[in-house]
Amino acid sequence: MSGKLYLVPTPIGNLGDISRRMADTMAEVDFLAAEDTRVTVKLLNHLGLKKPMVSYHRHNFATAGPAIVQRLLAGESCALVTDAGTPAISDPGEDLVALCAQHEIEVEAIPGPCALICALSASGLPTARFTFEGFLPQNKKNRRAHLDSLRNEQRTMIFYEAPHKLEDTLEDFVAVFGPQRRIALCRELTKLHEEVVRTTLAQAVEDCTNRPPRGEYVLVVEGAEEAPVEQADPQMALQRVEQLRGEGLSLKEACAKAAEEFGTKKRQLYDMSLGK
Ligand code: SAM
Repeated sequence: MSGKLYLVPTPIGNLGDISRRMADTMAEVDFLAAEDTRVTVKLLNHLGLKKPMVSYHRHNFATAGPAIVQRLLAGESCALVTDAGTPAISDPGEDLVALCAQHEIEVEAIPGPCALICALSASGLPTARFTFEGFLPQNKKNRRAHLDSLRNEQRTMIFYEAPHKLEDTLEDFVAVFGPQRRIALCRELTKLHEEVVRTTLAQAVEDCTNRPPRGEYVLVVEGAEEAPVEQADPQMALQRVEQLRGEGLSLKEACAKAAEEFGTKKRQLYDMSLGK
């Protein structure tokens, strides 16, 4: 019988966020897999626990992962903990979970602190539909290409960012999303100097120049307004013209109606219909 992997979230800055279930799980498992054993030992000391630990981080996951899986297959139980927040979100925990899934090892996720959810809920921006983008690529060209792919994204977008890269990232946001797009800069969440600044991208860049950013940030960016259809797919508006013509409307009337429905220019549709 194989053991179980528990995903144990840890506080992102406030020890008061440790739950009974997190503490009980860490106390009960056979061993912990920790991103940084020095960080986790402080948490264990706080809880008055002593546990065997192995390291599991971005530099050793390719070898450490299979070793943990072997122990789980042999029947041991393990709690995966990262430096802060929910394991497997923007950290190599996702590889360990995938490996467990491949080996049909049970994985139990314990709910708890997660920077992106904490930021989204406090952002004041629409929360019904969102996309989590994690850290942007480091390379400037890849970063811009990634942002370009989000140009027409209508869902609220969430990014993790390091303070020393914040200004460049905000400038890229302005270039791609425009200066008036709203943003919530969520800084040092759950900590003493917690701050949520709700502003525009242009103002955020200016603030950044005046006050060098410090601490940990989650950036929550408003989604795009509905994309004009002529940009998304002019052929669809044209098909609608054909359909309306089939229903007996004149070309002029069909273009006017389709233009209204698709938010496009009737002249443009008219010209396209005539093959101009
Ligand atoms: N797995 C963690 C989670 O989802 O909560 C995140 C791990 S990721 C390696 C670390 C990033 O999360 C930081 O660079 C920052 O963008 C964000 N973050 C973590 N703690 C934060 C806090 N207290 N306030 C704001 N952002 C935070």
